[in-house]
Amino acid sequence: MKANYHTHTVYCGHSADDSVEEYVKVAVERGLDTLGFACHVPYIFADGFLSDIRIQLEDHEKYVRDVLEAKEKYKSDINILLGYEAEYYPRHFEEMLENIKKYPVDYLILGQHFSNNEYDGECNHEPTPDIRRIEDYADTLCRAMMTGKFTYIAHPDLLTYMGSEDEYLCAMSPVCRVAAETDTPLEINLLGLTDGRGYPREGFFKLAKTYGCRFILGCDAHRPSRVARPKEVKMGLDFIREAGLSVIDHAELKKV
Ligand SMILES: [Zn+2]
Ligand SMILES: [Zn+2]
Repeated sequence: MKANYHTHTVYCGHSADDSVEEYVKVAVERGLDTLGFACHVPYIFADGFLSDIRIQLEDHEKYVRDVLEAKEKYKSDINILLGYEAEYYPRHFEEMLENIKKYPVDYLILGQHFSNNEYDGECNHEPTPDIRRIEDYADTLCRAMMTGKFTYIAHPDLLTYMGSEDEYLCAMSPVCRVAAETDTPLEINLLGLTDGRGYPREGFFKLAKTYGCRFILGCDAHRPSRVARPKEVKMGLDFIREAGLSVIDHAELKKV
């Protein structure tokens, strides 16, 4: 593993802890040439709805400052990038982009944790028996990719289906088609793999391969020790081999 674009920090407000610099030190130690920070993007919702899983507006400048300071301090050791993991919430997307573009943002990765707009949607971490939810989820991912703003899709197979594999793959096939058409790599999520969540799902990645999609490993690190942790990287490489995939080392950053 040469690069990781999926790193959270204490600013995310959920389980991530430790400072930006702690993550950088581990990444350098483990021989990465690129470390991208991807805390959950601040979204400005109407009616004062506060999301507790993302960077709070008052912490945003501190997040940016810490990443930029590390970028400068460690520039001879590693390439540090300022990024965000963002959902595609159509009603608020443009405003979110305007807000982050005040800073020298390097990239966005898509992590569709909720349907609709979070305050009126459902959480995609919960498995569903409803194929329509998978279809809606797939449709949201496709529309997000078509904005051209997302460098890659984090855990594209986040929403787990409890029904048949055939139905699932049929509903998810548009994601594979649009990922190939827009050249948006799909992430094999090491957190999901090592924590035994329902993803990455081998059947989905095998299907994506038939569409000519590209793949990338992402740590989804919520602790410094989980940046390119050897045991997790090995599990990722085993997954890739068993599914017959090949992965790219570095992502081409799409302009935000
Ligand atoms: Zn995520
Ligand atoms: Zn994440």
